[in-house]
Amino acid sequence: MRSVYCGSLNATNIDQEVTICGWVDRRRDHGGVIFVDLRDRDGIVQVVFDPDAQENFALADKVRPEYVLQVTGKVRARSEATVNANMATGEIEVYGTALKILNTAETPPFQLDEHTQVGEDVRLKYRYLDLRRTAMQKNLRFRSKVTSAIRNYLDDNGFLDIETPILTRATPEGARDYLVPSRTHENKFFALPQSPQLFKQLLMVSGFDRYYQIAKCFRDEDLRADRQPEFTQIDIETSFLGEEEIMSITEGMVRKLYQDLMGVDLGEFPRMPFSEAMEKYGSDKPDLRIPLEMIEIKDLMKDVEFKVFSGPANDPKCRVTAMKVPKGGEIPRKKIDAYTKFVSIYGAKGLAYIKVNDKDDLENGLQSPIVKFLTPEVVKSILDRVEAENGDLIFFGADSQKVVSEALGALRCKLGEDLNLYTCDWAPLWVVDFPMFEELEDGSLTALHHPFTAPSCTPDELNANPATALSRAYDMVLNGTELGGGSVRIHEQKMQQTVFKILGIEEEEQREKFGFLLDALKYGAPPHGGLAFGLDRLIMLMTGSESIRDVIAFPKTQSAACVMTDAPGAVDKKQLDELHIRLKVKPAPEAK
Ligand code: ASP
Repeated sequence: MRSVYCGSLNATNIDQEVTICGWVDRRRDHGGVIFVDLRDRDGIVQVVFDPDAQENFALADKVRPEYVLQVTGKVRARSEATVNANMATGEIEVYGTALKILNTAETPPFQLDEHTQVGEDVRLKYRYLDLRRTAMQKNLRFRSKVTSAIRNYLDDNGFLDIETPILTRATPEGARDYLVPSRTHENKFFALPQSPQLFKQLLMVSGFDRYYQIAKCFRDEDLRADRQPEFTQIDIETSFLGEEEIMSITEGMVRKLYQDLMGVDLGEFPRMPFSEAMEKYGSDKPDLRIPLEMIEIKDLMKDVEFKVFSGPANDPKCRVTAMKVPKGGEIPRKKIDAYTKFVSIYGAKGLAYIKVNDKDDLENGLQSPIVKFLTPEVVKSILDRVEAENGDLIFFGADSQKVVSEALGALRCKLGEDLNLYTCDWAPLWVVDFPMFEELEDGSLTALHHPFTAPSCTPDELNANPATALSRAYDMVLNGTELGGGSVRIHEQKMQQTVFKILGIEEEEQREKFGFLLDALKYGAPPHGGLAFGLDRLIMLMTGSESIRDVIAFPKTQSAACVMTDAPGAVDKKQLDELHIRLKVKPAPEAK
């Protein structure tokens, strides 16, 4: 139907006769001449119809936005005065000699260039129209380029693309499962995979050695801004490679993507132990573009009379921390109040600060609601410890480790954004030496990564000190976003059972839930390890998109629904009967 894409036309096509197909972006009647901007996936070109070609002209007069047209015409140069430098095809236009209306269109619910005013719900309801917009076309094309580059890289490095099941058993990754009732097995349910973790490990037992899959994963989580209930992972597993080699291959992949698709050299990724990341940045995914650091001052606060500080300073589960903002003295009081409110979201009960006007005048040179509670010696030690200069502002956090890390960690990122403190565009790093387990409020332990992650010690050492054991896990972080994470896995049954036991999974439950894995580990499982990247997040970062939904063709809303298809939907009684399901609450009358 067409000889060329609208958006690909340029001065090299002048004098050629072309046939193009696309949607009417705009139609303008300029005193007897009709201009139609015709859009396809490659871009927009201007088509001109004049009354000399009577029949076409009359038809062109009828077209409306989003009509689908086929136009044959001659490419000609625009006059100098009408060249549009902002348009890729702006040097030329197509003089239409034949026009066919392939389909009409009702007036769309929103003008495609006015999407921002209509709200995301409307965009998602008419997603097929929203996706016609140039920005969305660009994002999805870029996404396709990324996946193709990933496949090429992994193929070149000997990886095999192998699919794993969607209807399966639960694989624990720390979220709720999506369940699918079985018709043929009464009272039984499949779980949609939270990740292909166990299958990829079994593929290593089978000897495939290097596996990858661009895999859909499903996690029923309470949705935060950058989460989706179904999302895509670049899932990778290898045998006979240690963490160094796995990190090197996958770092090479991300570096190459940035180099080839964006012309950005990410350089070599630095490494940082989890403990350092938490101590300095209050986060296991620190944004290293921001030069602010948290500095421990617990030792200085142990004997002060000010309980707000001395309490946490004497509690091993707490931390007391200072964060200096160079030149932060210019931050107005009102803004500090807003930051105090901001940190309260993370449980902080306040936000103490010192504005350093004159560091040598401890009596009058400091503006602060707290210095009056501290001795001059302590104040001096704080200023020295953080290397304060006149004009700086120092924030403080004193509370449980969790609250201080989360509150000041988030404040650090907020200050970075508000004050534009970024020192570079891209700051990648590896976070390593994660703890094996995390203690829950009830004192029980949960796997920090997942229960198949190998510890850096023997089963006996692990049993003796589970809370302090480190794992062989690693996370790749870019600009404060976790791009991916993985680990060397447990490949011996004894170690796997030790970990299950520490997690409170007794033998019977181990057999019931993971019997197949424990069996497989008995039959010559090789040492293996891998990693998974969040593809959606990677594309979001690369395209500079604000939301993960802008890089997914048909995303769910924040409440995990699809407003276009109206999923999840009600089902009729017959179907429920077949699935052996009786609803607890009767469906509303309008639902079938
Ligand atoms: N399965 C893990 C995840 O989804 C990644 C990995 O360990 O390879 O986070």
